[in-house]
Parts: sequence; C-alpha cells; structure tokens
Amino acid sequence: MGEVEKFSGGCLCGAVRFHVSPPARWCFHCHCTLCRKAHGAAFVTWFGADKTQVRIDQGEDVLRWRASSDHGRRAFCSECGTQIFFETSKYPQQIDVVRACVDGPIDRAPSAHVFVSARVDWVAIDDGLPRYVEDSSSARADP
Ligand SMILES: [Zn+2]
Ligand SMILES: [Zn+2]
Repeated sequence: MGEVEKFSGGCLCGAVRFHVSPPARWCFHCHCTLCRKAHGAAFVTWFGADKTQVRIDQGEDVLRWRASSDHGRRAFCSECGTQIFFETSKYPQQIDVVRACVDGPIDRAPSAHVFVSARVDWVAIDDGLPRYVEDSSSARADP
C-alpha cells in the first residue's frame, strides 16, 4: 500500500490528535457486542500497534478511559464522544486504534473479520476475507 511515514488522526471535534508510527501489526473488522455498542455501529475496524508507536499530540486531558470489560478499557474524546483507542490486559504492550480516526492511509488493509459470532444480520459480509468466530486465533466461521 506504499510507504506511509506516520498515521495522523484524531476525533470528530479535533480536540484529540495523535499519530502512530508504522507498522500497523494487524487490521481487523470487529463485530463484537462491545465494539458495536460503544461505537453505535455494525462493526468497528481496528489496527493494532505497540504502545511505543503511539503518541498523543493534543488533548490528552480530554481523553477519557473507561473499562468496557474485566480486561479491557476504551478511550474516547470527552468533548465529542469519538471512540479512539482500546487496551486490554491480555496484550499489555498493545494499543488498538480505530482505523476510521486516522485521516489518511495506513500501511495495512483490513485482513479479517473477528467475533462474527456476534455480528448483526442487517449488514452483509461479502468481501471474501477470513471470518473468525471470536478472535483471530479462534475457529473460522464458514462459509
Ligand atoms: Zn473530540
Ligand atoms: Zn470488538
């Protein structure tokens, strides 16, 4: 997908700005119930990075972290409500970034659907990407 020096992004209102140094470690569409509810969306596209790759350039004071499960927490802009980051104690070095909050291209295209066991039936998944029942180490959901 070409060379991308860094991925800059932010929230809807612009209070929170961040950048991520490549490479993105993975990029998936997540259909889990928590993502769907938190974002008010049919599914959410995330990419993973090491925490050392991510810098908050502006708005750290308005970024709010809230636990969404016993192992995970999500960060959103308290000014506009945009969901931006996810962290889990299962992968303490990693931070997940909402793909749609990045302004431009990143170095990786979405490569799978995860947690399709929770997917809605009012959006078709017909892009041919692998589909996993839960996370990407779980069983494939087929066809
Ligand atoms: Zn905002
Ligand atoms: Zn999810």
